[in-house]
Amino acid sequence: MNIHSKNLSFTRPILVSFAGLLVGFILIAVLVTLNQRKDIIEDYHQINRNFTHNLAVNYTASILSENDYILDRAVRFFASNDELNKTVNVNREQGLRQIMQLQTLMPRVSSISIADAEGHYLRAPQVKATAESQSFDPKTRPWFIHQADSSILSRYTDAYTDYFTHQQTITLYRPVVSPNGVLRGTLAFHLDLALMGSTLRKMQSPVQGQYYVVNRAGEAVLHPDTGELFRQLVSPSLMAKMTNGEGAVYDKQTDTWFYYYSFTNPDWFVIFKVSGETLSELARHESIIVAWGFALAAILIVLFGLYLRHTSRTVLMNIISAINTGDIKQAPKLEATLSKAIISNKERELTWARQATIDALTGCKNRRAFDSEVGELLSNGQPFALALVDIDNFKKINDTWGHLSGDIVLRNVAREGLQVLKPHGVSLYRYGGEEFAAVFTNETVAAAFELLDEWREKVATRSWREEGLYVTFSGGFGEWHMEPLEQLVASVDAALYRAKQQGKNRVLPVDTM
Ligand code: GH3
Ligand code: MG
Ligand code: MG
Repeated sequence: MNIHSKNLSFTRPILVSFAGLLVGFILIAVLVTLNQRKDIIEDYHQINRNFTHNLAVNYTASILSENDYILDRAVRFFASNDELNKTVNVNREQGLRQIMQLQTLMPRVSSISIADAEGHYLRAPQVKATAESQSFDPKTRPWFIHQADSSILSRYTDAYTDYFTHQQTITLYRPVVSPNGVLRGTLAFHLDLALMGSTLRKMQSPVQGQYYVVNRAGEAVLHPDTGELFRQLVSPSLMAKMTNGEGAVYDKQTDTWFYYYSFTNPDWFVIFKVSGETLSELARHESIIVAWGFALAAILIVLFGLYLRHTSRTVLMNIISAINTGDIKQAPKLEATLSKAIISNKERELTWARQATIDALTGCKNRRAFDSEVGELLSNGQPFALALVDIDNFKKINDTWGHLSGDIVLRNVAREGLQVLKPHGVSLYRYGGEEFAAVFTNETVAAAFELLDEWREKVATRSWREEGLYVTFSGGFGEWHMEPLEQLVASVDAALYRAKQQGKNRVLPVDTM
């Protein structure tokens, strides 16, 4: 038989439960971490959008509107009272002074041009009359307004090369239109983009990244680093994706985010460029504490699982030892029912042990008890006397009244014997079928004889339910004289035989002759 049963083991269910717990926990941890990472990145997107918004609205737009405002005021002045004509054609010296005054108001404008509709012009600061400047024709310039394309709005040119400085530049210009609708000319502010962009350097971005302003072609028009001006910084395909007023565009190829804010006039875009790696790094950095927390908790689960596995084994060992010893003090306190089970188990065990030494039919001790108890007397050298008793004519009793009545006779003979002998501490055994043995350890021979005779008398005079039934027994009796048990039994048996021979219903001592 396989004694080792998995049903008795705590280890497996504990390991399975804790493995399940651990797997569930890890699953939750992964989900939470992923979700948290998503949230963190979403937060940073929002922060970056806000920064781009601020960069556009609070910073870039204010620079642009400042120029626009002064241009608007200046155009109003030149539109009135033939002022433009006077400045460009009539009194050029005073005109130059006036424009220079205007220019000093605007540090982010490097020079100002004013031209009439025919192409006569004045530039401040003044350009020397070289051969090159002589051939200059303002009508070829992108800022020059012809009658056909005059409107009252100020506009920004695309990037173009300045005729005199040979530098790339952008010009803010506006038509000068008289109150009665006649186009008088153009007023143009040539922007100092390097100076305008350099103030961007004062900004502090919330995460590592680059920020600048590009035109619709994706070329830098304002940049903290002057060297980057007019470089292609955003590809046209990405620019095409910037269709909202503000938002973010992701470039898969370079793993880069472009947060943008678009102006309408000029058609420029404020860009904040952040690499995806930077965002991932930030998210990693922020979620690492949570991840460590989860890892620590997972380790605790494993440790508790191992602890429980260990203690369950100890409890099992305690239970086993308690069952073996019957001592519940060693058993775990909490298991009151377990303790009870152990006690009743022990009681059952004692009952079994008792049953194993008692004869079921007669209630006397059985042959096994006789062997072990007499064996003990022999090995201790303790003096005793032995009587063997055999019911007379028992076969006939069985034959006449049936086996069942025979059993009743056996039981009653035994009961009479126990009643007489037990109070004197004499042990009575069922030795064989209808044979009994009595062992005397305290009585004198005479007293033992008296007790045996009392028993015999009681049986012989007893009235039975079966009509005509009389029961008697014969016995042999002898003291132990240190001889082997077989020898004693043989001589007592011989005495019993003699008693039968002499007519039964008597007890005879061993023949000492
Ligand atoms: P004797 O006077 O010479 O002893 O004659 P007896 O008939 O008693 O002799 P014997 O020993 O031959 O017979 C014993 C009988 O007891 C034989 C058996 O059938 C019967 N017997 C033995 N054990 C039991 C028992 O437990 N119950 C019953 N009813 N009969 C038993
Ligand atoms: Mg017999
Ligand atoms: Mg007999």
